[in-house]
Amino acid sequence: MFDDLNDLYQELILDHSKSPRNFRVMANATATAQGTNPLCGDNYRVFALMDGDVVKDLSFQGSGCAISKASASILTDSLKGKTRADVKALFDKVQDLVMTGKSSENLGKLAVLGGVHKFPARVKCAILPWHAVLAAVEGKGETVSTESVGPSPEESLAEKAHEKI
Ligand code: ZN
Repeated sequence: MFDDLNDLYQELILDHSKSPRNFRVMANATATAQGTNPLCGDNYRVFALMDGDVVKDLSFQGSGCAISKASASILTDSLKGKTRADVKALFDKVQDLVMTGKSSENLGKLAVLGGVHKFPARVKCAILPWHAVLAAVEGKGETVSTESVGPSPEESLAEKAHEKI
């Protein structure tokens, strides 16, 4: 069982990092946020198209390691059609999952991210895209960092350009 999950984990991470889903700039995004993980060099911008409280579309652009890219790919696939509250609730569950490898409920496709807990140094890589998506759908439009670094002036300007909801 554990070996199966390991194989599935590696296969999915490889697949998603080699051919990430939703890997594009979204011209009609209503919200966006930048996420950086200075420890690894992961740097992504996520784009969300919100319809009221519902995530209609999600995409991301940027670069980083295989785990961060795969995590962003899996999450942009999984969160379409969810509400803001769903996204927040899933964020908490996935954060638990990547840190402990366990989840209190069946998270479907997302369960594979539990494999990350065996590599503590990579937990931030896996959770980074989630921070960015949460910032975007909550309309904070800010740069989020795994190391709590504030936004650079360029980033703030770029965010302002996007604030025309
Ligand atoms: Zn990384």
